[in-house]
Amino acid sequence: MAHGNETYLLGSPQVDVLECQKHKSMIDMTCEDCEVFICSTCAKKSHRKHNWRPISTAATLIKRGLKGSLENIEKTYIVQLDEDILKASQQIDENTKLCELEVQSFSIIMMQSLKSLKKLRKSTRKY
Ligand SMILES: [Zn+2]
Ligand SMILES: [Zn+2]
Repeated sequence: MAHGNETYLLGSPQVDVLECQKHKSMIDMTCEDCEVFICSTCAKKSHRKHNWRPISTAATLIKRGLKGSLENIEKTYIVQLDEDILKASQQIDENTKLCELEVQSFSIIMMQSLKSLKKLRKSTRKY
């Protein structure tokens, strides 16, 4: 059901507010003389002689947040990779141990069979 008043999942209207309509760039400054939010192009052009300063608006916070979460993703990914590598090597160790155990038990079985074969041979010597 796509009607006119559907909700924006990612909040696109808010992003538009943070974009300079004139220069289509991110608003990240405030002009203290005009008391308006402006982009860096506005600051260099229409507000060149005014007093402006950078602001920590939602835009910069969003940018920081995105960067932060990217770093987090990277960190989690690397940690995950490390865990996988550790798990894999542990598994290899375990497998090797299991193989060794199997070989050992197999050779014990072989030894036992050999013993019983020898026993059998001994008991049948007279024939
Ligand atoms: Zn602008
Ligand atoms: Zn101004």
